[in-house]
Amino acid sequence: MNAGAGDGMEQGAGALAEVSRGGAAAPPEQLAAQWARVRGRLQAEVGDVEWRTWLRQMTLAGIDGDEITILLPTRFLRDWIRGHYADRLQALWQAENRRVRRVDVRVGGAAESLSAPAHEASAEHSPPDTRVDPRLDVGRADMAAPLDARFTFEGFVVGKPNEFAYACARRVAEHPSSPGFNPLFLYGGVGLGKTHLMHAIGQELGRRERPCTVAYMSAEKFMYRFIAAIRAQSTMEFKEQLRSVDVLMVDDLQFLIGKDNTQEEFFHTFNALVDAGKQIVVSADKSPSDLSGLEDRLRTRLGCGMVADLHATTFELRISILEAKAARAGAVVPGKVLEFLAHKITTNVRELEGSLNRLIAHAALFGRPITLEGAQEVLHDVLRAHDRRVTIEEIQRKVAEHWNIRLADMSSARRARAVARPRQVAMYLAKQLTSRSLPEIGRKFGNRDHTTVMHAVSRVAELMEQDLEFAERVELLKRMLEG
Ligand code: ADP
Ligand code: MG
Repeated sequence: MNAGAGDGMEQGAGALAEVSRGGAAAPPEQLAAQWARVRGRLQAEVGDVEWRTWLRQMTLAGIDGDEITILLPTRFLRDWIRGHYADRLQALWQAENRRVRRVDVRVGGAAESLSAPAHEASAEHSPPDTRVDPRLDVGRADMAAPLDARFTFEGFVVGKPNEFAYACARRVAEHPSSPGFNPLFLYGGVGLGKTHLMHAIGQELGRRERPCTVAYMSAEKFMYRFIAAIRAQSTMEFKEQLRSVDVLMVDDLQFLIGKDNTQEEFFHTFNALVDAGKQIVVSADKSPSDLSGLEDRLRTRLGCGMVADLHATTFELRISILEAKAARAGAVVPGKVLEFLAHKITTNVRELEGSLNRLIAHAALFGRPITLEGAQEVLHDVLRAHDRRVTIEEIQRKVAEHWNIRLADMSSARRARAVARPRQVAMYLAKQLTSRSLPEIGRKFGNRDHTTVMHAVSRVAELMEQDLEFAERVELLKRMLEG
């Protein structure tokens, strides 16, 4: 092996090969730790959305000879995982544990799970994987989610786009509740390091001589906790628990848009803590003033402390990040490959990192050095997705040309079928070909509501099923835009 791959991976592969050669099954803790790493890596590779949609519900049944069995609760999920992730699971497992030759994906629940202690009383209520993956926060008794040990200040690569946010985060970690820095509001696009910085703050605070109590949770979790407390008639306890911390961090606050009661509760908690001189750190995908849908008074208060923006990465920063991650993994990655990745994967550091990890794992598995040609091959799926970056403006122009209408009608209020239909097609293609959200697409089409876009998308899909000629026209446009 000429390239080590990640801290856990080297360890796992080496230590375990010895144990398993004796023929005995790996001890459950070791297997559980390997499984946690496989999950962690896969999650890092695929990103949160895919993870939550498809992969989160996987549980480990156990190992039998050279075969790992993974369970999913439904046949649908099982088929999906078999169809889309079987190879990755197998590769990741093999990198962890040389004994593994095959990964079998089956339908099954917690009851059949070999690694689950049969007597565990709460097994019915908590998802089975909490026993296996300590990084997952579901079902834990205490309030806050655990911090990811990899997300430290030392592990954060600083460059122009993020230096201000980084400095603010450091400042809060060193002197929580300083005037002017409370609340600290971090915002920026997906995968630019918001969560990383929050965990780093938490970790730093935990290391202090007199550690303070830090609660970190996603806004989603905040909501679930709150709802659970209402159901259990224990809202007082919920409030007290939250208000007893020194530092409260709530991640991805945009999740609270449209959840009025939870917002209200958060607002009160927020005020109580700030009034008591406690530090709040919040992240969101937009600045407080752009978070329309949050109550005005909450937005005003959120903007009262320090607001720090994580800007899109530059090529230089992406290179630095890749270099740091490769060095950390102890892997030798040629500069050409790093440049190639930094050119191709520009929006999301998580994907950048995932791609690099994939290259490293692949090289380690096959005992080959990492090369540019190899990288193009291994990452062809990721790269294809990034090559196809079409803008909404291009889509509008092409569609308007095709139907011979004015470009301005893409944004106009005219509802005549002759312009409304092409406009719908353009919305449909925008959804298909770009990573824009429905509200973002709506905005580009004369500030239309996201429900209008949603309707357009389903209407066009419906028409394409009914009308072959129409379907061909749309497909043709799509191919033209992709090519
Ligand atoms: P966000 O919360 O903004 O969506 P994350 O904090 O989850 O993004 O970051 C996504 C991934 O990218 C994480 O694995 C994180 O460690 C990594 N990452 C992002 N920015 C940096 C950076 N500047 N240096 C090192 N790693 C980074
Ligand atoms: Mg995040």
